[in-house]
Amino acid sequence: MIATRLISTKPYRFIALLCAILMAGALGACSEASEPEPEPERQQIDVEPLRDPLPPTDVPEPQQAPEPSEEEAPQEEPVAGALEEVSIDIEITEDYRSSLDHGPKGAGSQKYIMLHDTEGDSDAASVIDWWDGNGNLVAAHFVVNRDGSIWQCVPLDRIAHHAGYGDTGHNDAFGISEDGRDDMKGSSPIGSDFADYGMNAWSVGIEMVHVGGEGDYPEEQLNAVDALIAYIDDYYGFESEIIDHKAWRSGNSDTSPEFADYLERYQTKRTHQ
Ligand SMILES: [Zn+2]
Repeated sequence: MIATRLISTKPYRFIALLCAILMAGALGACSEASEPEPEPERQQIDVEPLRDPLPPTDVPEPQQAPEPSEEEAPQEEPVAGALEEVSIDIEITEDYRSSLDHGPKGAGSQKYIMLHDTEGDSDAASVIDWWDGNGNLVAAHFVVNRDGSIWQCVPLDRIAHHAGYGDTGHNDAFGISEDGRDDMKGSSPIGSDFADYGMNAWSVGIEMVHVGGEGDYPEEQLNAVDALIAYIDDYYGFESEIIDHKAWRSGNSDTSPEFADYLERYQTKRTHQ
């Protein structure tokens, strides 16, 4: 069975705080203590054909690089209570796949939430099956279905290969580095214009089931992304910068043009409205 759990963030914060007090620096142990569930067995599925959700070789287009971050990555454990107390009830179906885990990513190396489109109609369960089976070792942490259901295949404290190579110079522009934590398995350089490879190790990836050019995003799906961003913020205790995939790699297709207004709102208000 695939484990589904209802997550309320307050107990997590309490557990995290307790762990921080008792075991300074032991975030890994804390995470283990708060996530006792075994890796779920899988049920399912009729795997549907799916287009590559992370097209690697789109023709690059000129794009203004984002402003460099002036702040260094936070190196200390997040402080409980750094954000306003909120109650977030969010249901996430955990379907972790060890093949899609590429190394440790503690809170001290979390800076970005990257939004993607799957560029396919397949639902989250099928997408995760496809990622796990195609040998590319590429995945995002979360997939959000059009009905608002949320699936997770890589834990938040582990690296997922969702961003890939970015524009040359973007490691500096985004204030990140390639520091050896990412095992880089399955990654192949895609040319001198896209030489930087730091983002996976400094970000969380969210894929929305959507095909560019095929209409708007359902309200249920956007509401789920709202809740997921709030959950991630609360998990780390600070607000990560929200970007989309094409901000990291010029010419990438996602997020789609239909998402442009939503992206702006997410970046300013952290919700789609
Ligand atoms: Zn993408």
